[in-house]
Amino acid sequence: MPENTPAPAPASANASAAPAPASAPVSVLGLGMMGTALATAFLNAGHPVTVWNRSPARTGPLVAQGALPAATPADAVAASPLVVLCLLTNDNVDELLTALGDSVAGKTLVNLTNGTPEQARTLSARAEKLGARYVDGGIMAVPQMIAGPDAYVFYSGDEEAYATHRPALAALGGTKWTGTDPGLAALYDLGLLTGMYGMLIGVVQALALARTEKVNAEEYSELLVPWITAMLGIVPDLARAVDSGQHLTDVSSLAVNQSAFPNFLATYKAQGVSPELFEPFQVLLDRSIAEGHAADGLSRLAGMLTR
Ligand code: NAP
Repeated sequence: MPENTPAPAPASANASAAPAPASAPVSVLGLGMMGTALATAFLNAGHPVTVWNRSPARTGPLVAQGALPAATPADAVAASPLVVLCLLTNDNVDELLTALGDSVAGKTLVNLTNGTPEQARTLSARAEKLGARYVDGGIMAVPQMIAGPDAYVFYSGDEEAYATHRPALAALGGTKWTGTDPGLAALYDLGLLTGMYGMLIGVVQALALARTEKVNAEEYSELLVPWITAMLGIVPDLARAVDSGQHLTDVSSLAVNQSAFPNFLATYKAQGVSPELFEPFQVLLDRSIAEGHAADGLSRLAGMLTR
């Protein structure tokens, strides 16, 4: 498991890497909603911060708070050993790396742009060829949460570079190291977001169903929230079953779920709610029975979804 912060450097981090001083300079490239929040957090933590954005107007509020504007991305990179990238997509980061070329040599690039594990691995290899050290990150926060107690970032890639710059990165919130494969931070990030989207898809369907009988959505949410919260209690049991491969359950078998699920789909259709979000689940439940897993619990489905 990755470590939590605030805490000392992870036991797994390279002990030979001397941490950079708390006042080490940081450059932030990309000043959208998230990049601006990141740069503000570095400023508030006392770091000299150099900023660059494709549309220069966005540097204004940060410069007013003490940031130094860079005229070009190369100027921003030259200003600090730690260069934080937060653009819209990794294709944008790739383009920027092409423009920067070997001006990134000797720098640590921490890329906090949302992307795939494969993109992170490709960018890491590119950065390494250009002489830079690459750390990928997945931000588990919205901009307003940055530097607050609930914000944290997953990191992966060059472990020594991470250990060196972790004191500065801690200005953004908690730091969770996931491993030297640069793709791991994105994997952890997308996995947690998958759990979130799964929950929100269910909420949207439930609110649509309630709406068909003019049930007030806000009042209904007062039932939904404690119900979902109580159900989250089974997550550790599911996870233990996935780890152990012991899927037999005395809670709710796949057979019971499979025989009840047509009631959900029939009700959606009868009430005029599209079943499109939930039909795939019936297909999976049907397959679980066809493959002989009737007595197992829902944990069995994780293995069935894996190639
Ligand atoms: P945003 O407000 O839309 O800002 C996008 C940034 O990317 C802007 O600085 C934009 O520059 C820059 N950009 C876009 N295309 C570019 C290009 N071709 N070359 C150079 N710069 C380019 O988005 P955001 O909310 O800051 O999100 C930034 C990243 O953080 C995304 O990957 C997002 O998924 C991730 N993230 C966001 C949140 C969130 O809640 N906002 C949470 C977690 C992760 P211009 O100003 O010139 O357009």
